Amino acid sequence: MKFRKPTKTLSGVAPVAVMLPPRRCDHGACTYCPTLKAPQSYTPESPAVLRARACGYAPFEQVKVRLETLSVMGHPTDKIELIIMGGTFLSYKKDFQFDFIKKCYDALNEKVSRSLDEAKKLNETAKHRCTALCIETRPDVCTDKDVANMLMWGATRVELGVQAIDDDIYKKVNRCHDVQAVVDATKRLKKAGFKIGYHIMPGLPGSNPKKDIKMFKELFSSEKFKPDQIKIYPCQVLKGAFLEEIYYGGEYLPYSKEQTKEIIIKMLKLTPRYCRIMRIMREIPLDYLVAGIKNIDMRQDIESEIRPGKVKINEIRFREIGFALRDGRRVNTDIKIKTTSYPASSGKEFFIEAVNKDDVLFGLLRLRLEKDKKTPAMVRELHVYGPTLKIGEKSIEKWQHKGLGKRLMIEAEKIAKKNGYKEIRVISGIGVREYYKNLDYVLDSNGIYVKKDL
Ligand code: SF4
Repeated sequence: MKFRKPTKTLSGVAPVAVMLPPRRCDHGACTYCPTLKAPQSYTPESPAVLRARACGYAPFEQVKVRLETLSVMGHPTDKIELIIMGGTFLSYKKDFQFDFIKKCYDALNEKVSRSLDEAKKLNETAKHRCTALCIETRPDVCTDKDVANMLMWGATRVELGVQAIDDDIYKKVNRCHDVQAVVDATKRLKKAGFKIGYHIMPGLPGSNPKKDIKMFKELFSSEKFKPDQIKIYPCQVLKGAFLEEIYYGGEYLPYSKEQTKEIIIKMLKLTPRYCRIMRIMREIPLDYLVAGIKNIDMRQDIESEIRPGKVKINEIRFREIGFALRDGRRVNTDIKIKTTSYPASSGKEFFIEAVNKDDVLFGLLRLRLEKDKKTPAMVRELHVYGPTLKIGEKSIEKWQHKGLGKRLMIEAEKIAKKNGYKEIRVISGIGVREYYKNLDYVLDSNGIYVKKDL
């Protein structure tokens, strides 16, 4: 019998996490980060680590096993988001990085290619297409060369371990980089077209609730940051982290459940409509949790508290159609296009959404215009919700056939043209290139972006 956990593929694409073999970070360890017999920042008993260890951390095996599991669970596996996790991938040897990515594609292709280029090419029309590839890194390990390599691998999203935007806190927790590194990496990545996620960590040593909220506000009021997505991981005391000693020495206390809840609700309220709160809380096996919040279901608690209320939450996930359907809400499928523009990292961003009158979100596009009009307009993300969603099929068909992706692209092209840009390009997962070819886009001469003259 097939069974399905509905939320995994609710946004349309099945995530496949691939874990790196254990390697210590070059700068040492951040105070709160456990150093155990596991990939840095993970515990040996984390489900993702157990799965990866069973495969000897081999990328090919990990992807293969995950595809099989997803399929047994009844999830569609035609559209895959690969997520490379467990330490700082960009600090590994370059050969290792290229080989690791190639083997992920090989597993999706169910065929071993002779080169990364060949594997990528094959994946354009493979059964399991890589529609997105995400790399996690530190803000100071994100040079121009790293960005160029990530583009070559077909990466589309980068998650930066930001944690806080305060140099004093960075010093206190041994981050060994400064806020400027976050600003620089954000700009570099946006310019290259990447979708950017920040990991933030309320309750670090040196912070307090007031400071955490102030920093969160600044993420969106200052044009230097403005991430597209955020994961909120409140600081916990874990076995194997230096923070454990500080905690036992009586010099640190993590936030209580109530404090954390209050902060997260404030953060949700402050998040603008162009940002998605991807996750709240990290799943830590209880044996490794020395102090801090135990309930990883805090998001559900918070959401059930907020949804029936009158509080308006604008962040993306809260408004997604998949969740409206999951909650059994009646959905109006009369869709209109709404555009919000804002300055970010010395450029201008246009967040184009397909929404109904109740602000339920069916699809979105991120368009970036650099000041220099010779630089082509850049589509950093196109996402239409629902294609692999099988819950409530009837209502879904209604909007799928409306060609929402195309409507959003046409709107982006219009805006770019109106602003005097002669060319538009899209950072596209390897497995989505075919889609753009049907919209008259061609691969650029470097084989990285798909583009079209305006
Ligand atoms: S950079 Fe990340 S993985 Fe490395 S020690 Fe710090 S938190 Fe852990």
